[in-house]
Amino acid sequence: MNTPVYLDHNATTPIDASVLEAMLPFLRAQHGNASSRHEMGTVARRAVDRAREQVATAVGARPAQVVFTSGGTEANNLFIKGAAAMLRPQQVVVSAIDHPCVTMPAKDLVRSGWNLRRLAAGHDGVVDLADLDAALCVPTGIVSTMLANNETGVLQPVAAIAERARRVRAWVHSDAVQALGKVPVDFEALGVHGLTLSAHKLRGPKGAGALVLDKRIELKPLLHGGGHESGMRSGTENVPAIVGFGAACELAVARLVAFDQHCRALRDTLDDRLAAAGATVFGRSAARIPNTTYFAFEGIDGETLVIELDRLGFCVASGSACSSKSTEPSATLLAMGVAPELARGSVRVSLGEESSEGEVTAFADAVVATVKRLRQLTAMAV
Ligand code: PLP
Repeated sequence: MNTPVYLDHNATTPIDASVLEAMLPFLRAQHGNASSRHEMGTVARRAVDRAREQVATAVGARPAQVVFTSGGTEANNLFIKGAAAMLRPQQVVVSAIDHPCVTMPAKDLVRSGWNLRRLAAGHDGVVDLADLDAALCVPTGIVSTMLANNETGVLQPVAAIAERARRVRAWVHSDAVQALGKVPVDFEALGVHGLTLSAHKLRGPKGAGALVLDKRIELKPLLHGGGHESGMRSGTENVPAIVGFGAACELAVARLVAFDQHCRALRDTLDDRLAAAGATVFGRSAARIPNTTYFAFEGIDGETLVIELDRLGFCVASGSACSSKSTEPSATLLAMGVAPELARGSVRVSLGEESSEGEVTAFADAVVATVKRLRQLTAMAV
């Protein structure tokens, strides 16, 4: 069997060879606990410190601002729940297109007296600033909007959102999991109090991430114990994964321009090919991360198309990868005002630096042929 063509990099990326290389000593001989006082512990601690510097540098922050977590999900939960525990119950604002690991903890705050407000998105996939202005007329404690959407790839006006939220003294957070490694990310320029990152979206290992924090605010930790991560996240550090995360951040920043040029050219070709075949390409008029195409064909079910393409050797996603077991139409597309029937047809392609022109062309041909075949089958069944 041929190796499948992997076009699902927003779900996860293959680990980079140099990242694995950096991790291996800490999976083998250097297995010390970073809290141990002996030499092996000191080696592990230095490696974690170096990774902290690499992660901080990637987003223009200071190492002391980085709290390592088990990934993006934990970092998002830590900010939302950790901030809410320090504030009196009031309004929490999230965007309707945010990832469930932001919207679900925000929804959970309702049980402790908070009001949840979901911001609308425009047809282009951009969060509506006028809706934010309306939302902020009510006392607001927390505002969280993602930097790049995982489905459409559309970039969000986080700096403008943060400026407005700060004016009413709300604590502002952004999930930058899909942005880091694809576009420049600068903590200070965004003006947020908290920024979520995840290693496995940028050729690092699964199970490592970070919450980068403005040190002027204090969150209540989710996990209590040995006081690791300056008391913000107890639990023995996953040294190999943290080392891999640091190496991946350094690599991603060094390759940012090349990544952009390579993926953007392929993505634009794919957009053009699919649109010419009659597909709707979502968020196409907005600024997007350069590797993502999200499309649907009228009358074609997205799940079916993904399964057929998988049989032909192409790995792509229908709807959000993290909720791919659900048959509900994508919440992001519904929030953008896309009709549920069309939203049910959504398929996401996310390219990586190893994606090639040949792969993209073969994929576009396969989509067009499969859509034609599925339409013929439907016509015969009527
Ligand atoms: N935020 C976004 C936008 C994502 O796309 C994902 C994963 O798909 C996450 C958060 C969760 O990150 P992790 O897998 O590191 O928990």
